Amino acid sequence: VIKVSITTDWECLSPSPDGFAKVLPVAQMIIPAITLASLAEKYNIRISYFLEISQWIKFKHTPDYKEYYLKISELAKELYLRGHDIQIHGHSEWITAKYINGSWVRAFSGPDMVHQVMPQFILTLEEAIYDLQLLLGGTYRANVYRAGGYNVEPFAELYNVLTRFGIFADSSRHEKKPFSSFCEKDSEIISLPILGEFPTADQRWDMNLSPKTCSYLFGHTSCYGVKNKNAVMMGHTKQIHQWKPLEECFYKIMCDDYISPVTISCLALSSREELISKKKILN
Ligand SMILES: [Zn+2]
Repeated sequence: VIKVSITTDWECLSPSPDGFAKVLPVAQMIIPAITLASLAEKYNIRISYFLEISQWIKFKHTPDYKEYYLKISELAKELYLRGHDIQIHGHSEWITAKYINGSWVRAFSGPDMVHQVMPQFILTLEEAIYDLQLLLGGTYRANVYRAGGYNVEPFAELYNVLTRFGIFADSSRHEKKPFSSFCEKDSEIISLPILGEFPTADQRWDMNLSPKTCSYLFGHTSCYGVKNKNAVMMGHTKQIHQWKPLEECFYKIMCDDYISPVTISCLALSSREELISKKKILN
């Protein structure tokens, strides 16, 4: 059986240096998250939402956006109670973004690089995990991290941060420079990379929860190959969704006895157990 996690980065568009990018929490986060959950539940599937925490915490401290922090929180709680998973995603550009005259302005251009804002990122991560724990209750755990813009190499510094907060799995996209050897050989971090080949630039936001999803998953054209027992699919709530092919994909997942949809936390926990037993055998 192949365990499949269906994940989405739960976020608005990132701010741009000119302030023109539209940051629309209702259209880019709230409505798509609700639609996705309802569609998945029809086929007894649960979604793993990677909440963009730098943005969420930024909204919390920005009076004009505080209501969105509250609405997103309320929805996160409802989704969690319905069996969906809420995990951790964060872009460095949100850490330093400023809200000026009604627009979000990015403080720097160039790629997302969490190392440049590590002290503030650590504070944001701490606040977000605290808020999530309070919101979702005692059984909730932040287990899995996904990097913003996929730029976290070298991983060593971030590794120390994640493990300090109890996060034990990484589901970033890094097939070209996999952490997995680093992650799994000497450390506690499990690597759960995203399924599929990295597409061309214009397909980037359309790469998994899209009409191509079925061929990725069922054609075994991914980096996983046929031997792999786990798969992680991803989308972005800020993108335009292709709901019909997605529903077809959910239907196929439900009908296929060899595919079992699980949350990313389930996948992380079972992978950790597997790894521990493998290490025991080796020792
Ligand atoms: Zn993102």
